[in-house]
Amino acid sequence: MVRVLDDFLKLELDELRAKNLYRKLRILESRQLPEAIFDGQAVVNLSSNNYLGLNTHPRLLEAALKATEKYGVGSGAVRTIAGTMEIHMELEERIARFKQVEASVVFQSGFTANAGTVAAILGKEDIIISDELNHASIIDGCRLSRAEIRVFPHRSMDGLERVLKETRSNPGKKLVVTDGVFSMDGDIAPLPRIVEMTESFGAIMMIDDAHASGVLGRNGRGTVDHYQLHGRVDIQVGTLSKAIGVLGGYVCGSKALIDYLHHRARPFLFSTSHPPAVAASCIAAFDVLEQEPQLLEKLWENTRYFKSGLNRLGFNTGESETPITPVIVGRGDLAMRYSDELFKEGVFAQGIGYPTVPEARSRIRTIVTATHTQTQLEFALDVLDRVGRRLGII
Ligand code: PMP
Repeated sequence: MVRVLDDFLKLELDELRAKNLYRKLRILESRQLPEAIFDGQAVVNLSSNNYLGLNTHPRLLEAALKATEKYGVGSGAVRTIAGTMEIHMELEERIARFKQVEASVVFQSGFTANAGTVAAILGKEDIIISDELNHASIIDGCRLSRAEIRVFPHRSMDGLERVLKETRSNPGKKLVVTDGVFSMDGDIAPLPRIVEMTESFGAIMMIDDAHASGVLGRNGRGTVDHYQLHGRVDIQVGTLSKAIGVLGGYVCGSKALIDYLHHRARPFLFSTSHPPAVAASCIAAFDVLEQEPQLLEKLWENTRYFKSGLNRLGFNTGESETPITPVIVGRGDLAMRYSDELFKEGVFAQGIGYPTVPEARSRIRTIVTATHTQTQLEFALDVLDRVGRRLGII
């Protein structure tokens, strides 16, 4: 056997280690709760996207078990062959009603929803205009589409306008795409202005609401609902993997859009559909969003409490407006050290550095959920403060 692969892998991994970018996976040994066991240690968990605690909600567990009993553990085929079950259709109708759109289609993940949709709709004669901090799945979709990619500076409306003007005479389709809530900074896209500009230049508008689904808007209907922009965003992507508590992604829009994706979105055509338990527990999650609004209220109450604690302690939390709050420390090695020291003292907040964020804006990322107790949040603030002072961060 030739050693080409081994040599290549060793070189690459050594380079990651040398740059302090090599990460060991932390292993979760309990449920994904606000206090959980990772690597044998009980920690206050500030790293999950389980915003509403739904991934252990009794109604979701019950729905998953019942669907498994009734339909089995797998769907057995891709959607376009024999893998479309009545429960998949029920979930899509439920999502469309919830989001107040004509139709929706579910993908295996938010990642495949973004990448599959962008790649299906745009071609090499087209232009994609994308916020510089958009998620990797949008970027991959852009690359797969072979369209020209034009990036505008993060949330810069001047930057967006400049690109729209420069590309005005191009005959191809134009897609303006932004995250609703940005995953590393927790800030919200200025959607009303983006929509206005997109409309006035005749472009297609797409939003990735992964971190806004179940978090922003009435009952968690997302960024479009938060800004009251119903009917003005052509493509809304959401995830079922974060606040909804399960797994998957969806695209919402017109009947024609969904019909087209059924025929052209490659993850829909070429990858097996969700197990019935996934579809059933997602349906239960949308019922919970509508019937238990107190969870969303608690998420925001905890968010306000934790953010004001961090700010009182003097941390740099950037522009965050949502339950994702970065604590920006500067250098990448300091962010990783801070994260490691916090973990030893019972708080799990992931360190994030280059290339995910610019080196000088390395950080730990904190995410609170509706199910954190005040005692847990106080404990976390206390540890963040103590370790932060010890490392000279504050
Ligand atoms: N978009 C954004 C902004 C995300 O943060 C993520 C998850 N990291 C995704 C899409 C992908 O969602 P999923 O985990 O459901 O694949």
